[in-house]
Amino acid sequence: MMAAVMDNHGQPLRVTRVARPTPGPGKILIRLETSGVCHTDVHVWQGKVRADPVPRPFILGHEGVGEVAEIGPGVTGWSVGDRAGAAWIHDTCGTCAECRSGHEGFCQVHRAHGLHVPGTFAEYVVADARFAARVPAGDAAALAPLMCAGLTAYGALERAGLQGGECCAVFGCGGLGQYAVQLARRRGAEVIAVDRDPSKLAVSAGLGAGRVLDGADAAAVAGVKASADVCINFAPTPATWAPMLAMVRPRGRIVAAAMVSDPVPLDQEWLTASGVTITGTSVGTRAQMADLMRIQAEAPLAAHVTEIGLDGVTEALDALARGTAPGRYCIRF
Ligand SMILES: [Zn+2]
Ligand SMILES: [Zn+2]
Repeated sequence: MMAAVMDNHGQPLRVTRVARPTPGPGKILIRLETSGVCHTDVHVWQGKVRADPVPRPFILGHEGVGEVAEIGPGVTGWSVGDRAGAAWIHDTCGTCAECRSGHEGFCQVHRAHGLHVPGTFAEYVVADARFAARVPAGDAAALAPLMCAGLTAYGALERAGLQGGECCAVFGCGGLGQYAVQLARRRGAEVIAVDRDPSKLAVSAGLGAGRVLDGADAAAVAGVKASADVCINFAPTPATWAPMLAMVRPRGRIVAAAMVSDPVPLDQEWLTASGVTITGTSVGTRAQMADLMRIQAEAPLAAHVTEIGLDGVTEALDALARGTAPGRYCIRF
């Protein structure tokens, strides 16, 4: 099969022919139609996120959609030809408190496609039959980004417990934020979209955000002071912290979805007085993926997807790293 192999962190991926994998016990082989390219792939590519041992061959990617091509021993519930997706989680331990209570996204020893096991920048990927996503009919390029970006947005709304009639402020209106805007609207919430980029705010307004504003505009933030039931951060920067604290209402919820390693100030006196809940979210669960696929099947979510070939993946990673990507990239095999 053709694959984009990573020989060294930060070096161009090498598009080459490698052995097609065979699915072991409990595994399925998926022939991929598409794979999204995610910002987390950039982190792995740059070596900011590392696994030990690394998979051989080291193939990035965790937003794959295709068809089951082969079934390993002992697998039930999957047939050759079924539509299937390979997402971030390849498997989890199944025994920790998070796994046993249906919060498998927080399993501390989960294994991920494109980090611990070979990923989806290849014509075929092996997935765990228990964790592969059931994917509806429809354009595979629209479905691939849902495997991580869409699921993370959906998981964040679930983590927030966002209800119809509530007000949800979405910080960072790139790919994930745009999914969050749509998913929040579909559950009947009011949405405030917050971004520095006017073009992303315009897109968010088109997707149903009732109000848009620049988080660095103090007057605009003051205009919605303490009125958001939920603030979710998808922007990879600590700069959204201050406007989130300003906009969240007493007893509201703040959800960290973006990976921001810089510390942020937190005044414990404000926390005791406001009763605000601060939490985080990491991708989502299989149950949430099933919900998301049902939502997508009912009416596809809008997404700005740029299709590329496998040989364009290094350029896509570069663009994501520089912040110049126009939306989500999707490899078409
Ligand atoms: Zn676990
Ligand atoms: Zn991802």
